Amino acid sequence: MSERELVRDLDGLLVRRGDAGYEDLRARMVWNGLKPERFPDVIVRAASEQDVLSAVRLARSTGLRISVRAGGHNWVGAALRDGGMLIDLSQLGGCTIDAASATASVQPASRGSDLAPALAEHGLAFPVGHCGSVALSGYILSGGLGWNPGVWGPACLSLLEVETVTAKGEMLRCSEHENSDLFWAARGAGPGFFAAVTRFRLGLHRLPTAITMSSYVFPLADVADVTSWVSEMAALLPPLVELSVVLGTAPPTLTTIAPGTKVVVVTATAFAGSQDEAVRSLGAFQVCPLAGRALAGVTEERSTFDALFETSGALWSQHHRSAADTLWSMEDLSALLSVLADDVAQAPSDKSLVLAIIPPAPPGEVPLPEMAFSILGRSYVVGYAIWQDPADDEINIRWLREAMSKVEPLGVGHYIAETDLLAAPTRAERSFAPETWERLREVRARWDPEGVFQPFLHS
Ligand SMILES: Cc1cc2nc3c(=O)[nH]c(=O)nc-3n(C[C@H](O)[C@H](O)[C@H](O)COP(=O)(O)OP(=O)(O)OC[C@H]3O[C@@H](n4cnc5c(N)ncnc54)[C@H](O)[C@@H]3O)c2cc1C
Repeated sequence: MSERELVRDLDGLLVRRGDAGYEDLRARMVWNGLKPERFPDVIVRAASEQDVLSAVRLARSTGLRISVRAGGHNWVGAALRDGGMLIDLSQLGGCTIDAASATASVQPASRGSDLAPALAEHGLAFPVGHCGSVALSGYILSGGLGWNPGVWGPACLSLLEVETVTAKGEMLRCSEHENSDLFWAARGAGPGFFAAVTRFRLGLHRLPTAITMSSYVFPLADVADVTSWVSEMAALLPPLVELSVVLGTAPPTLTTIAPGTKVVVVTATAFAGSQDEAVRSLGAFQVCPLAGRALAGVTEERSTFDALFETSGALWSQHHRSAADTLWSMEDLSALLSVLADDVAQAPSDKSLVLAIIPPAPPGEVPLPEMAFSILGRSYVVGYAIWQDPADDEINIRWLREAMSKVEPLGVGHYIAETDLLAAPTRAERSFAPETWERLREVRARWDPEGVFQPFLHS
C-alpha cells in the first residue's frame, strides 16, 4: 500500500509539524502543565483500532519511529519525542463489561473514573489508580500501583489479555498462553513497551461494598514518632487495609488547622465487604498512642471510589506544573521520611508533597506470576513538586531532585510509572530487577528488532 493510500485510510486526524493546530495538539498530549520541548514530526490522532494499524504501517513505510500516548499522564511526557510519529489513542476510551464472566474489555484511554462507577453498578471492581483521571493504558502497562493493593496486588496482575499492533504492523492477541513473552512485557514495561496496545481484557473483583476510611493529621515535626508507630501498626493490619502517609501542607478544607501548616497525614482505607469487617480491620489503626497529638482526623468514614478520586484529585490537580520521582527501599519508611520531612518543610511550593506506601507484596514473601513489573523494596516513596508559575520551574525541579538524591543511597530502584526518567540515564534500568531488565531487552529484540517503537526516554 502506498503512503498516500495509508494516509487516505485514516479515519482520525494526521497533523504534521508546521500545520495549523500542531502546537495546540502537541501541548494536549501531556496532562502535566509543564510541557516538554520535544516535537514529533507527525501526530496521528487515531479514531479506531484500525487507524492504529494504519498509522503503524505508515510510520514503517516512511521510516518514522513510533511513540504511543493514551492518557498523557506520564509526568515527563515520555510519549513526546523529537521527530517520528506520535500515535494518540485518546479517542479510544470505550469499555464493555461482561458481568457474568467478571471481565471487562477496555480501550486504552478509558480512565479509572470511567471504569470504577461502571463496574460498581455490577457489584464489580478493578484496582484502578488513585486519581480517577489516570488512563488505564500506561498505568496497567507500568504495573499499576492502585487501590486495595494488599488484596488485588498491582493492576497488571488482573490483566488477562492485550490486543496489540506490533512493530511489524500486525494485529496480535497476547496472553499467558499466546505470545506470552510480549504479554509478560505488557505487564510492567510501561513507557518502554514495544507495541501499541489497542485493547485490554481485565479480570474483575468483587466490589468491596463498605469502603471505610480513617485518618490522623499530625504536625510535621512529629514525623519520627508517627512513622515509627506506622511501621509497627502496619504489621497488625489485614491486607484489605491500604495505608498511606503523606508529608505536605494541611489542605485548606481542614479549617481548624492554620493555613500553610506542614503536616503528616496517615490514612487507612479498608476495602471491606461489610461495616463490621471494616471496623474490625481498622482496629489497630484506631488505637493510636499518638492520637492526642493529632491536629485533625477522621474516624471510620464510609467512602466510595468517586470520593477517593476526589480526595486524590485535590492533591494532584490538573493544570499545575509538576515533576515526580520515586524510590523503592529495603529500609523502613521512617528512615526515608525523616530525611524527606526536612525538604518538605522547606519546599518552595506549598502544593509539593511526599507520598509513602507500604507496597502490596514485599519481595520473596508472596510468589508472583511472571511479569516485567518489579516490586523492588519493602517501602516505597514518591516525591512530587507541584507549582503554578513558569518562572518557578527551575527552583521546583531542583528542589525535587535534591530531596530525592538525599534518600537515593537508601534506595534499591525506582517505579517506571512515575520515576523521573530525565534525572539520570539509568532510571529506566533501575526500575527493574536486573534479570527482568535483561529479559526485557531480549523480548524487545525479538518483537521490534528494527527499533520501530521508541525506547525508554532518558536524559
Ligand atoms: C495525577 C496522576 C496520578 C497517578 N496515580 C498513579 C497511581 O495511583 N498509581 C500508579 O501506578 N501510577 C500513577 N500515576 C502514573 C501513571 O500510571 C503513569 O503516568 C501512566 O503512564 C499513565 O498512563 P497514560 O496512558 O496516561 O500514559 P501516557 O502518558 O499516555 O503514556 C506513557 C507511556 O506509556 C506507553 N503507553 C501508554 N499507552 C500505551 C499503549 N496503549 N500502547 C503502548 N504503549 C503505551 C508509551 O510508551 C507512553 O510513552 C499517576 C500519574 C498522574 C499524573
